[in-house]
Amino acid sequence: MPANSLLAPIANTMPANSLLAPTANSMPRQLTHSLPTRVARPLIPTYAIDQFQRLDREREVVREVAQAGQQEIATGVEFLQQQAQLWLGRCWFCTQRGLEDQHDLYECRAQTQYGNESPKGWWLRVRRQIKYAAFGGCYGCGMPQSICSRFVNAGSQGHCTYRGLLLSGLAVMVYSEGSEVIKEAWARRLEGLGVSIGNESELVRYLGSRHDGETVKLVHEYIWVRRRWIEYGERS
Ligand SMILES: [Zn+2]
Ligand SMILES: [Zn+2]
Repeated sequence: MPANSLLAPIANTMPANSLLAPTANSMPRQLTHSLPTRVARPLIPTYAIDQFQRLDREREVVREVAQAGQQEIATGVEFLQQQAQLWLGRCWFCTQRGLEDQHDLYECRAQTQYGNESPKGWWLRVRRQIKYAAFGGCYGCGMPQSICSRFVNAGSQGHCTYRGLLLSGLAVMVYSEGSEVIKEAWARRLEGLGVSIGNESELVRYLGSRHDGETVKLVHEYIWVRRRWIEYGERS
């Protein structure tokens, strides 16, 4: 895919966007990229206007993402620990929609997608296939051994505190309705790393592979996607 393929259709919508500007001003700027959802639709579903504004925001995000450097990974473990506490036992999908969120992706009843292409489908499939590199973190969840209590509490028989957190988190942040911008940005990042998002076995191998002495790639991809969502705007 050419690097600027996402930008092309967005640029073409600009004249239409300016025509809609007076109506668009009646909506607060920060809400213009709110997630589409069947659960909590805006009172005035001005679909076309919303779409143009979203495309405008998408262009900004793509630029921000393109500028994101590798150096942020250096402080990743601390961030990861903080994020793990924030999302443990809590559904990211439902948080974004202001719904009751004290459940994991498996138990989520607000999901509107089913089957292979759904976040849950992706998660369960990848969870079955993934093999974490030896000494690359906890075998149960992929977390660095310094974070998962399975290792903290001495012994591999211990309970894995973060089981499912990284993979299901990635699944719901990338494959949900309303995650298209982040998915596109992540696909570009992976492409730059020589991994095709559409080639699942390749992606699974990559996620389970060793990044450095203590971590697997999954950890870093989770961190990367979390940061993109925080920059893009999310509820937490
Ligand atoms: Zn949920
Ligand atoms: Zn674990």
